[in-house]
Amino acid sequence: MNRATDSVSVEAGTVQVEAGAWGSGRSLARALSELAYAAERTTFLPQHLARSGLAVEDIRTADDFAAIPVTDKEQFRLGFPTGVLASGYTIADKWLVHSRSSGTGGDYLTTVELPTVFSARALCSAAVNPVLHEALRGDARQHVRLTAPNCSSAHCAIPVAEPTLVRPPSGGPLIPAVRHDLLTTPAESWANAIEGIERLRPRFYYADPAHMAELALHVGAFRCDLYPAPVLLSYSLDTRIARRQITEAFTPPPPPIIAAVSMSELGWLAVECPAGALHLNTANFYPELQCGGRPARVGEIAELVVTTLDHGCTPRIRYRTRDLFTPLAGHCRCGSTFPMVRMEGRLQDCIVADGAITLTPRSVDAIVGDPGWLDRYHLHQLDERRLRLELIVNARYLAEASETLLARLHTHLVSGTTIQVHRVRYIASAPSGKLATCTSVPARRLVAEGWSL
Ligand SMILES: [Zn+2]
Repeated sequence: MNRATDSVSVEAGTVQVEAGAWGSGRSLARALSELAYAAERTTFLPQHLARSGLAVEDIRTADDFAAIPVTDKEQFRLGFPTGVLASGYTIADKWLVHSRSSGTGGDYLTTVELPTVFSARALCSAAVNPVLHEALRGDARQHVRLTAPNCSSAHCAIPVAEPTLVRPPSGGPLIPAVRHDLLTTPAESWANAIEGIERLRPRFYYADPAHMAELALHVGAFRCDLYPAPVLLSYSLDTRIARRQITEAFTPPPPPIIAAVSMSELGWLAVECPAGALHLNTANFYPELQCGGRPARVGEIAELVVTTLDHGCTPRIRYRTRDLFTPLAGHCRCGSTFPMVRMEGRLQDCIVADGAITLTPRSVDAIVGDPGWLDRYHLHQLDERRLRLELIVNARYLAEASETLLARLHTHLVSGTTIQVHRVRYIASAPSGKLATCTSVPARRLVAEGWSL
């Protein structure tokens, strides 16, 4: 890592987060400080508050804060750069990180931020997992990055080096060349990737679960093993099947496989600890889980709304992520005081009926489970009562297996819903390059119309 990142890593190692950081006094104080900073240093936020008749000096309590209307991606796109950048910074400042969202929701969003802010968020999030934290604190450039070629979140979410198609002589991540439409990548490319990984001996892998699983399947087909190093999974849902396939690509015992949640405009938000729980970073963010216009209770599916806390270049107040999480109760045995959540997937990818969520991508994955006969799946909702299920099966497939899966899915759907099942050899990637497991036309339409939980 560069010097700036090293200095942050020392800081990150000593970060202490108080128990129950959700809405605690210290977190709220920092959120209010960020609010004052954004009001003073940007033109967007005072205008946003004024539209609701609010003034920053009137916002003092958690309830006051929760009454601020949420901000969203569209506002930051329209306000970029002069409205949303803190005064004193410009897009011409070469030392700032420019990150661009991969456009899964449609248009691109460019975010400009201090590199130290992204590094601190990554390292504080990773602090819940000592193996990952250690890997990041060393020469983090020596890693394999395996994502959709145009996924610019690969650039921002780990602000260590520029993406390259081959590892540059000066160091930097190895980025295997995969096709934008992942499943059309030829076997020769995967063979080259496996050889390149052997030569690099990476400190860790940083990958999209679907891409890493595809690499793992080719490792199995070539009857070899992957170089052992921790695997960090981000960008899309870590399915049970993908995690099993990745595990099988290593000689036992496999290295840790760690899920993380990152967004191109925010960096890292959550990391999985050694006990298998996903912990939300409350050191760099003031997170709120919202459903029905109120804070979610334990076990309720909710949208994550975040406020940044680091007085950076692009402060965000009550920013809608459109990502769904379920808050979990209790304290984790890993000892972290960061709250535990279950990642449910994106709001626009949920199966819906009558304007409400029927299944989240995570709950679909829980129903599908990890049958040994299934290599990949994609459940796509065409309209409120019609779904299409594509299955890529392997030699262990038996005809009754998909019937059983279909019956399980039907028990969770509203009556009258039909599911067309197709056994296929190929599933198309989305325009973003992601290979989703669950997508929905009506949910995407609802989100475009401004739907929130
Ligand atoms: Zn934990």
